Amino acid sequence: MHEPGKAGRLVFRGVAASQGVCRGKLFVLARPRALVVERRPVSEADFPAEIRRFQEALLVTRQQLSQVQERVGQHVGSGDAQIFDAQLLVLDDPYLHDEVVKVMRRDRVCIEAAFQDFVQRYLTSLSSVEDPYLSERAVDLRDVADRVLHNLVGQDLQSDLLHLREPCIVVAYDLTPSQTATLDRRLVMGFATEQGSETSHTAILARSLQIPAVTGLADAIPHVRTGDAALLDGFGGQLVVDPTDQTLYEYGQLEQRQQALQGRLRELRAEPATTRDGLHVVLSANIEGPQEIADVLDRGAEGVGLLRTEYLFLNRRTPPDEEEQLHAYREVASALAPAPVIIRTLDLGGDKMPEDAGPHEERNPFLGWRAIRICLQQRELFRAQLRAILRASAFGNVKLMYPMISGIEELLQANALLDECRAELRAEGHAYNESMEIGAMIEIPSAVMVADALARRVRFFSIGTNDLIQYALAVDRLNPRIAHLYDPTHPGVVRLIKQTMDTAHAHGLWCGVCGEMAGEPVLTPLLVGLGADELSTAPGRVPGVKFVIRRLQHSEAQALADFALRCEDSEEILARCRALTRAVAPGLFER
Ligand code: PEP
Ligand code: MG
Repeated sequence: MHEPGKAGRLVFRGVAASQGVCRGKLFVLARPRALVVERRPVSEADFPAEIRRFQEALLVTRQQLSQVQERVGQHVGSGDAQIFDAQLLVLDDPYLHDEVVKVMRRDRVCIEAAFQDFVQRYLTSLSSVEDPYLSERAVDLRDVADRVLHNLVGQDLQSDLLHLREPCIVVAYDLTPSQTATLDRRLVMGFATEQGSETSHTAILARSLQIPAVTGLADAIPHVRTGDAALLDGFGGQLVVDPTDQTLYEYGQLEQRQQALQGRLRELRAEPATTRDGLHVVLSANIEGPQEIADVLDRGAEGVGLLRTEYLFLNRRTPPDEEEQLHAYREVASALAPAPVIIRTLDLGGDKMPEDAGPHEERNPFLGWRAIRICLQQRELFRAQLRAILRASAFGNVKLMYPMISGIEELLQANALLDECRAELRAEGHAYNESMEIGAMIEIPSAVMVADALARRVRFFSIGTNDLIQYALAVDRLNPRIAHLYDPTHPGVVRLIKQTMDTAHAHGLWCGVCGEMAGEPVLTPLLVGLGADELSTAPGRVPGVKFVIRRLQHSEAQALADFALRCEDSEEILARCRALTRAVAPGLFER
């Protein structure tokens, strides 16, 4: 819309990750760096002052932790807030206090150096003992020690967004999914990150929260400060610092046009997603938990095509047990019954690892310990989830779906465990739906190649294009430097999708798409033409996709898909997709 520099004092361009516009003050969250503690020598005369500084730092830390605990209790749940009790206990431990003072006296170093030395030694001895209780304590100690150290050297530890006091636009190097999950919707108007892409889970979460977001803004942080006035454009993917009056006016107009468009789309809420020549495509929503039930209904989705269960497992030390999971799944299933709710089993890993998961550095997390691979190794964790999903199936139209299936071995193992869970529940007298549909996500190229074997063992497929694209093209879905190579209309991707859908149909299965491609109106005709029976996307994206489907002829979509399957050039495929969508639904693209 503008030349860089004309729209405001500074303009940063990135990837439009979540639609919307907001304006306000920036809150800049610096990249967490290891704290460097200066080893200042001290003399006996300095000791009392050093001890006083230490006690003050402990006091401030205690106050901060109590505040964080209170806010987590309000926004996440009291169970999660309890994790801070252990940290508060560490602060009150007289042993810690006395030992640190001893080190200071003995080595004659400032209190922060003494504190760091003591904690380091203590952590090393804890890590040499293999005991799950002690490793939990080590995590608590590390967390709390970090806060104390920052307070001793007078730096703010901005590792969480729970300190925010007033509405702002958060600018960060990156936000973890757990940070995004705890952010307070009333205080965070939008966010901009240097890292990330359209399909990073943080961006996906921003779309569920319906907060404007821009990712992949290279090198923004050194040039902006907390308190700068800014405008975040989640349509065009830019952050404008100190926007001019003209820019504010133009964006005001854009917001008005968008509101009018949203009004038109809302009118379609109760209408079916059926093409002009009568093909019905099931239009479902991707959600993270019960808090989004109202959005599913409000946006006119027919059910839930992907319930990502990982968010129940983030921001906490211990995983939710069967009862807690049952409660969450049952709430969604019964609120939406008889509409289907597809619950995906745990897909932790990749960019969705709890921050306190312990020593878990991986070189290639997306190729590593993730999803079904974790579940098949941590059987008790998996068993609790499978039992909870089965039990929830008694309260609605629940279907279960496994992520990251690469071949039949994982599917056979998962289904065998599911059978064991069924037998246990039967013996215990718990109700569940014997004929609950089981499906597999198709998101690894090998799964496409063996889709016929998988099809004999499940009732449906759902294509996870976010991962299918990254694995097929060997392009990390998070890396902004290669974001231009992440290409949904690559002929290779188009053919993989087609092959999956054809195999499903040849075996009498239905096949959906639940990756971000399914929520991109420009690509809707292509997916419908390739044979998608269902499209599932963030609730906020459902109306736009429905708008396109209702104005489309199935025959036009098929002709587009035929062209795409013959074409060798992804740009040409995309251009055809754009041309068709703009021709059938011009109103959707006016900015
Ligand atoms: C996908 O890979 O397309 C998908 C829907 O799963 P996730 O984004 O959670 O990996
Ligand atoms: Mg995936």
